[in-house]
Amino acid sequence: MNIITNFEKIKQEIKNNLPQSEVEVIAVSKTFSIEHIMPLIEYGHKHFGENKVQEAESKWKELKKSNSNLNLHMIGRLQSNKAKKAVELFDFIHSLDSEKLANELSKRQKEKGKNLGYYIQINLGSEEQKGGLEINELKNFNDYCVNKLNLSVLGLMAIPPNDKNPEKHFKRISELNKQFNFRNLSIGMSNDYLQAIKYGASHVRIGSAIFGSRS
Ligand SMILES: *Cc1c(COP(=O)(O)O)cnc(C)c1O
Repeated sequence: MNIITNFEKIKQEIKNNLPQSEVEVIAVSKTFSIEHIMPLIEYGHKHFGENKVQEAESKWKELKKSNSNLNLHMIGRLQSNKAKKAVELFDFIHSLDSEKLANELSKRQKEKGKNLGYYIQINLGSEEQKGGLEINELKNFNDYCVNKLNLSVLGLMAIPPNDKNPEKHFKRISELNKQFNFRNLSIGMSNDYLQAIKYGASHVRIGSAIFGSRS
């Protein structure tokens, strides 16, 4: 298995399906060692995703110091007591979903003089085990983050329910994203990224199709 070949194949498929597209591939490197990921870094890819603060810190902290062009995306559930470390390490947070977390991130990024990009996560299937807001909470929450805290909210993020029909969920979130005039949309993973780009994904989060299956 060659990581670069996998990555190029995905980029080519996106281009074939959407010739005008500027879809960014976030290479989701969770669980993989930095040695395993390194070929793609050396290849020049800039966007990587992790879902745990601690793991991300041990893998990326030093690397980011010597490679300031790397963009690290937090795609997993984030507890507010980890906000400080998250702000130090990440450039984008895809899992913003509570006022408590937003308050803490705002406070920490002011302390650090950083300005991260944020995606509000929506729980499309109201699934207990997943993070994210209910759709009817979005308006108030977005107002709070943007007007009260001054966070740079770029768009919505979702992980659709695993019900073999991601398209109806992608359609729903794509409509919401337009309604709120967001410029980015974070949807699509290894199994459904071609469907996601049909519905306007600006960022797809792809792990196993690039790096292989996770044990
Ligand atoms: C692991 C993960 C991905 C990538 O999943 P693959 O199926 O390996 O592409 C994308 N988004 C989130 C939130 C994840 O946790």
